[in-house]
Amino acid sequence: MTDYAGAIPMYVDRSRVFIDANQPKWIVIHKTAGFHTAQEVANYFATNAEMTSTHYVVGQDGTVVQCVREQDGAGGNCCLEPGHAAFLPEGVNLNLFTISIEHVDPATDNSTPLTDAQKRASFRLIADICERHGIPRRHGDANGGIIGHFELDPISRARCPGNYPWNELWAFLEQGGFMLDIQATRGYFTDLGNNVWRCTKTGYVVGHGILDFYRRYGGDALYGLTYLGLPLSNETPVTGYKGVVLQRFERGVVCWDPGHQVDNPPGSGPAYLMHLDRGPGQDPRIFTLQQQVATLQQQVNTLKQEVDLLKQELDAQELGSGSPAKPTG
Ligand SMILES: [Zn+2]
Repeated sequence: MTDYAGAIPMYVDRSRVFIDANQPKWIVIHKTAGFHTAQEVANYFATNAEMTSTHYVVGQDGTVVQCVREQDGAGGNCCLEPGHAAFLPEGVNLNLFTISIEHVDPATDNSTPLTDAQKRASFRLIADICERHGIPRRHGDANGGIIGHFELDPISRARCPGNYPWNELWAFLEQGGFMLDIQATRGYFTDLGNNVWRCTKTGYVVGHGILDFYRRYGGDALYGLTYLGLPLSNETPVTGYKGVVLQRFERGVVCWDPGHQVDNPPGSGPAYLMHLDRGPGQDPRIFTLQQQVATLQQQVNTLKQEVDLLKQELDAQELGSGSPAKPTG
């Protein structure tokens, strides 16, 4: 068992940690300045003479290894150096108030950018820890939060965690997850401001709640741009449902329906994908085709009736010509 569902357990012996003594208030971010895999770092934590360790190690491939239970204090953030962040209390063992996360960086100066997989794994792990321990999802202060090792030890650890992408982390935590960035849309959208984008190819606008849904949809790649495609309409009111709108995209129909008046897919929020085989989400061209089919069916029925009448007339004529038999001269 690990505290974080996505982690592989590689616990150090509990003789190397502060057992049941941790009351986490801050998350401390580190980089390894060496090593190539998370497992390699975990093995080092299990055996090194200085008894250093962190709770988690995030590999460049996105692997998360847990080395110390969150209830235990790890051996990573012991001692403050002069010039440390003013909000950190002196005279206490900060290992008893922190959960620490290492990130594998083979460069001794921690200059390797996090890989995409590593960044995703790191951000998700941090969000999960914040959630479970009530740690503020922002840069740390006296009330807790997320900090870098350099804030404890600005002299010996000035480059820990080096180039960790702090601004991306804050954006991730603020918006509650990964989402599509306007720059990543490769010119398919322009930003009109006020949380509204216009598609440069189709001219339709996507905004507000549906834009938030679009920017998160699918959870990876280019989100809605990848999985829903371009907008094929603006928001359209759904007849009979107050405040409910739908918007058609190349690959799906999104409904904005916070009250779940039209539908309530399991686990859905205020926006969800509509049924395509029936209801207001159905492609309107299908309704037109269905009407055409009904008209044609009527015409077929009429023709069938005419054929039946003609057959009856024909039968009657054949009977008339066949009898009575006429004498031959
Ligand atoms: Zn460090």
